[in-house]
Amino acid sequence: TTRSMALAEQAKRVAAEFEFDKDHVQKAVKEFLREMDEGLQKEGTELSQIPTYVTAVPNGTEKGLYMAVDLGGTNFRVCSIQLHGNTTFSLTQSKVAIPRELMVAQTSKELFSFLAKQIENFLKQHHEEHYSSTIKRRETGGQVKEEEIFNLGFTFSFPVQQIGINKGLLMRWTKGFDIADAIGKDVCALLQAEIDELHLPVRVAALVNDTVGTLMARSYTSPGKTGTLLGAIFGTGTNGAYVEKLDKVTKLTQSKDGGIYDKSTGEMIVNTEWGSFDNSLRTLPNTPYDIELDEKSVNPGIQMFEKRVSGMFLGEILRLALVGLLKDPKVPLFRDENSADNDVHSTTQIHQDSPLYKQWGIDTSFLSICAGDTSAGWRMLRQTLDKDYGISAVSAEDAEAVREIAAAVGRRAARLSAVAIAAIVITSGRLDTASSTSGEVSEDDVIDIGVDGSLVEFYPGFEDHVRQALREVEEIGEQGEKRVRIGIAKDGSGVGAALIALVAGSVL
Ligand code: ADP
Repeated sequence: TTRSMALAEQAKRVAAEFEFDKDHVQKAVKEFLREMDEGLQKEGTELSQIPTYVTAVPNGTEKGLYMAVDLGGTNFRVCSIQLHGNTTFSLTQSKVAIPRELMVAQTSKELFSFLAKQIENFLKQHHEEHYSSTIKRRETGGQVKEEEIFNLGFTFSFPVQQIGINKGLLMRWTKGFDIADAIGKDVCALLQAEIDELHLPVRVAALVNDTVGTLMARSYTSPGKTGTLLGAIFGTGTNGAYVEKLDKVTKLTQSKDGGIYDKSTGEMIVNTEWGSFDNSLRTLPNTPYDIELDEKSVNPGIQMFEKRVSGMFLGEILRLALVGLLKDPKVPLFRDENSADNDVHSTTQIHQDSPLYKQWGIDTSFLSICAGDTSAGWRMLRQTLDKDYGISAVSAEDAEAVREIAAAVGRRAARLSAVAIAAIVITSGRLDTASSTSGEVSEDDVIDIGVDGSLVEFYPGFEDHVRQALREVEEIGEQGEKRVRIGIAKDGSGVGAALIALVAGSVL
């Protein structure tokens, strides 16, 4: 019918606005490489390229019992991790909600003594023997031996200026926390002081960023002999940390007050903070929907890469594109044929309170539903529109249009993700050596990448789109793309943090 043809044409037009073709990918990779380089040399650049003081990745043979805690937002997680030394581990954990009043306490002591108390409870519950024997000795004036002390990795997901492997100054609180006296203080020292008051056999050995945890967790569990190159998160936000040659991190190595780190490996893990890649939009796409999303965000002009890639934003981009279509009276989306000038006859109904009309109203999981729906007439998609979004009796043609636009938003996000991955693979130099010249990829030639986050885990075809774009990058091509292995790395703030505590423990 003319209606369905008109609709298909409109959907195609909007989907085309999200095209990010081979040329765009190549240009963006060049820009990413430039910004990486700049970030390694000086402060205040688009890619922050933060030195993490972690100078080695694990190879799966690491052993021992470690602890990890994670203060992320609503919960505080405590775990102990037994590394078996054969790429496997066992993890015991507990989780408590942070009481609201502690998030805005008068003094940081109130919050950190609560955290130490949770560590004590955990030890009593899960490591009772160890706990009581060391506590007893302390109380009777005895010493706790070095090997009896748990090294602990502290994942602290607030902005800190890291100045050592277990030293970082809090820059500002986010996510509803507000405790003035903690600003500018070393959060590891704050936690250690409270742990010491309780005489716990625990040392805060490492301050951990979640992307570094992802990289470490993957490197330990990865099947390959060669260590993992990159840990990347595609969840609420997006970020990556990778293994860099130490002598390229000149802003650290040539600084007088660079802090203490192990120079012997010649490498250091760098936290890119790539969410702010190309904030000045030299190479990033910028549709009317991206512009509107940014203008109405709490931080316009900032995190511009993240705003096109991560779970927090993709649903909203789709929503703005759909609302844009609906505003055009000539576009028949969600309008029945008979109702072109009179909604009364419309079979499709949009509830007046539909999330479609509210900022952040569409969740990124809806894009996954669109991409994963293979049922006849897009039944799943239409059910979701009805159930979750108050849009009832959607026709198959309308669903098809929504599906096409959603797919374009998701595909663009994956191709942008490939830009970051490609630049880091190229920069590593690992493509320049190959032990195998036959078509087969030998285990030694694998370039391993660990990923985490709902988007990469649940969006159907995310990795396929990433790979397609990687092949289109000249320096990578089909041969290079085959060498890239991408694997899910679960639990960076547990086992990953434990592994950082392990490497840190050998330096402290
Ligand atoms: P976090 O990054 O906060 O640790 P997640 O990795 O679970 O947590 O990411 C949460 C984000 O992923 C949210 O923005 C949410 O919209 C998005 N999300 C949740 N489920 C899905 C899904 N099935 N497909 C795509 N995105 C999803």
